[in-house]
Amino acid sequence: SRDSVWKMPSRKFADGEVVMGRWPGSVLYYEVQVTSYDDVAHLYTVKYKDGTELALKESDIRSQSSFKHRKSQSSSSSPSRRSSSRSRSRSRSPGRPAKGRRRSASQSREHKDDKKKTTQETSLALPKPSENNTKRYNGEPESTEKNATSCIILEQKLKPDLEIKRVLEQYSLRSRKDEKKKEEIYSEKKTFVAVKPIEKVPTKTKELEFGGRIGTFMLILLLPATVFYLLLTCKQDDPSLLNFPPLPALESLWDGRVFGVFLLWFFLQAAFYFLPIGKVVEGLPLSSGRKLQYRINGFYAFILTAAIIGVLLYFQFELHYLYDHLMQFAVSAAAFSLALSVYLYVRSLKAPEEELAPGGNSGYFIYDFFTGHELNPRIGSFDLKYFCELRPGLIGWVVINLAMLLAEMKIYNLSVPSLSMILVNGFQLLYVVDALWNEEAVLTTMDITHDGFGFMLAFGDLVWVPFVYSLQAFYLVGHPTTITWPVAAGITVLNCIGYYIFRSANSQKNNFRRNPADPKLANLKFIPTATGKGLLVTGWWGFVRHPNYLGDIIMALAWSLPCGFNHILPYFYVIYFICLLVHREARDEHHCKQKYGLAWERYCQRVPYRIFPYIY
Ligand code: NDP
Repeated sequence: SRDSVWKMPSRKFADGEVVMGRWPGSVLYYEVQVTSYDDVAHLYTVKYKDGTELALKESDIRSQSSFKHRKSQSSSSSPSRRSSSRSRSRSRSPGRPAKGRRRSASQSREHKDDKKKTTQETSLALPKPSENNTKRYNGEPESTEKNATSCIILEQKLKPDLEIKRVLEQYSLRSRKDEKKKEEIYSEKKTFVAVKPIEKVPTKTKELEFGGRIGTFMLILLLPATVFYLLLTCKQDDPSLLNFPPLPALESLWDGRVFGVFLLWFFLQAAFYFLPIGKVVEGLPLSSGRKLQYRINGFYAFILTAAIIGVLLYFQFELHYLYDHLMQFAVSAAAFSLALSVYLYVRSLKAPEEELAPGGNSGYFIYDFFTGHELNPRIGSFDLKYFCELRPGLIGWVVINLAMLLAEMKIYNLSVPSLSMILVNGFQLLYVVDALWNEEAVLTTMDITHDGFGFMLAFGDLVWVPFVYSLQAFYLVGHPTTITWPVAAGITVLNCIGYYIFRSANSQKNNFRRNPADPKLANLKFIPTATGKGLLVTGWWGFVRHPNYLGDIIMALAWSLPCGFNHILPYFYVIYFICLLVHREARDEHHCKQKYGLAWERYCQRVPYRIFPYIY
């Protein structure tokens, strides 16, 4: 009637309403709460009981009353029941539009299928211990597996209970080899994920990390102090940690020329960033659904830098200058990173709410200044955080290492560098080249997707990485250490093991995230989650929960061992790194718990160790 047309709302369900939402990739419905509605995409954001949020079409949502009513019926007029049984396994995604062919299927056939489906759905909803219960949270892997199992049951036309149980067990963690059905499930889930980003930016950061306001304030003072303490201590003849170095005169710390060289370095790298070489890729979707573009040319920047350094050395340029003025360079980099952080904070005050970092929006100046208020600050297409993350600091690190190697040769009048120096330089060069070669992988890291750009990352990228990570090479210049060939071989093997674990774990996860159907990963098993992404439970990610950190720590040890056992100073890196990664792991666990809910808990049960097998 005209009246009803006039009154018809543009959306059927209101914010806050508790409804039944269809599980993506299945025929099952769970209790969810509507949190918002997107008028343009016509999608509801719904929240599950554990806090997981998904975007659903209206046709995948039903009122609770209709659901309860339907459960006791044998037929249904639900919009979710329009596809034919043959095509069901391909049409479970709420994001997948029904094909015309399916829509034109005869009414009677639909009805028959509907009946069959309802019977199955109801039987799945029976409160058996291993079966689905609509009152329960749907992100739980058990339910997830059951959801997926329901696909199998549909295909196999209601097998006897025992058979169903077997199928359930098989599905829960089965091999991906020859599993065509699973590929279908995945492609559906991918469609679903592409509809709308799953995570929403909280308006305010409620849980403060790093010790809150006091902690971050202390860190702003402590981090620079640590760098200067380490550099000063390392320069001493006896670099014992308790042998406190005399403080240098303040004016000796600043050198205008050094600052000029630092600026030249920074802007040279920035110029390389703009070179139109290398592919342009999209980052992960932001909370607004937008994806930023990134030019992948860090490796080219490295090659160009190497060529320039080669030319400078050819023309007898003294890289020794870096060794002589290392402290002034560190001061210049620290001053620059502080100025950059102030600029970043000031500009973040004008940034729209949706561009703020989920972890750096507490409203407390000191906390947001430290953790980074704005997520992806850009000047035009120049992404400040992405640029600083790998280029000036990481490439700077290997240049400092090279300067140390040349300084050692010059001071001790060597025709070839010491074996220890070669190992330290070689191992760390491999690490940096690997990071630049796999630059794209940085786009999915916490630094890019979660943390804002503030003092923590600016100081970390521009000061901490180049000046603290090069400490072993710096130490070796002042404290020559002789190692034998067999020892060198042993350390090299250790570094290779670490690198192998680090690289293969990172690649396994990156490839799996990029293309879960990759045939190279066919042997891997995973737990499906509510977000459509799986959690690997075999391969490296089934060994410990952060195998890449394990590999990284093994490498860190291999970088310190060439410095011998006279002092603990060269081991600062490995000790600090263990602390950093243990803390980072805890942060990531927290985020994953929020993202995946009980599916993550299930993963933790299955893979109990976080980083170190049988230890932690
Ligand atoms: P990771 O690469 O370890 O990524 C963690 C993410 O991986 C999680 O948030 C989750 O994200 C996903 N994930 C977790 N478990 C699984 C699983 N079982 N299956 C599939 N995906 C899973 O994070 P980082 O950014 O911390 O580290 C990247 C690399 O950088 C590491 O190798 C690390 O060692 C190195 N690093 C080096 C530092 C240095 O100073 N040298 C400092 C920090 C890191 P989702 O599910 O959303 O994909």
